[in-house]
Amino acid sequence: MPSDSSVSRRTLLAGGVAAVGTSVLGAEDATAAAAFQAAPWIDAHSHIWTPDTSRSKLQSGMTVEDLAPKSFTSDELMAVARPSGVGRVVLIQHTLFHGYDTSYLTDARQRHPDVFRVVGMVDDLRPNAGKAMRQLLQHGVTGFRIVPRKGITDWLQTDGMTEMWQTAAETRQPMCCLVNPVNLPEVAAACQRHPDTPVVIDHFGRVGIDGQIREAEVDQLCALAKHRQVKIKISAYYALGKKKPPHHELIPMIKRLYEVFGAHRLMWASDCPYQLDGENNYQASIALIRDVIDFVTDDERRQLLRTTAEETFFYA
Ligand SMILES: [Zn+2]
Repeated sequence: MPSDSSVSRRTLLAGGVAAVGTSVLGAEDATAAAAFQAAPWIDAHSHIWTPDTSRSKLQSGMTVEDLAPKSFTSDELMAVARPSGVGRVVLIQHTLFHGYDTSYLTDARQRHPDVFRVVGMVDDLRPNAGKAMRQLLQHGVTGFRIVPRKGITDWLQTDGMTEMWQTAAETRQPMCCLVNPVNLPEVAAACQRHPDTPVVIDHFGRVGIDGQIREAEVDQLCALAKHRQVKIKISAYYALGKKKPPHHELIPMIKRLYEVFGAHRLMWASDCPYQLDGENNYQASIALIRDVIDFVTDDERRQLLRTTAEETFFYA
């Protein structure tokens, strides 16, 4: 087999080539095919951390006491994810714990290049943000988290942020916006300024975070669909609406987004490990998309659970 991308090999295997057996593929490929079939889905958003500060330094002001759960390493993450059929995960930079230091995540990706990609962060107030993005791409950082910054009104229009959006249009590393509904108009304006830049909105733009899923805010989210490069993470159910399983109150919003964006622009994600305590759990999160919603075709369900995230983050 060509030794290029394991993802394309997996796609080939998933397409039925595995059926011809080990005589063609070899034992290693047959093992990869079996692993893929056991865990075909991608979680487009999870965090990892370790209390071992010799391996991963915490931001000043943070201590291991702030970590909850205390430890959530890549192994601990996959022990939660795999039983739900999730074999690959996009690891998201945790600003509060790790600031702009992506090394703990890129280390995990280096150890398991078939399993992880990374959404990192660069400081747009420092010079050469675009250069930093290109360097991080070599380490599996295939997207960047951006968040409103305290004290900066035009946070999407700093010189560094403009450089990031311009760079992303070339590198295909999406700008992953962790924003609230109030920020959606300024995100729309940035999409207008940078029509070729890939953009991912985290967690429905946090519509429903105060328990109310307001029609006007869902409308604002849907309005982003006219910008062809925008995709939405349908994720973090533990934090939205009733904030507990079975999460059925979120279905009308998911259906609206599906009708406006199409399944190829939506992706499921857990935001693990934040739903591992209380009434919430990982299985209930993926079950909403895998087992409950009834308005998608089988192919569209695969897009929500794998293909959109694969195309968006596992392209390199
Ligand atoms: Zn998160």
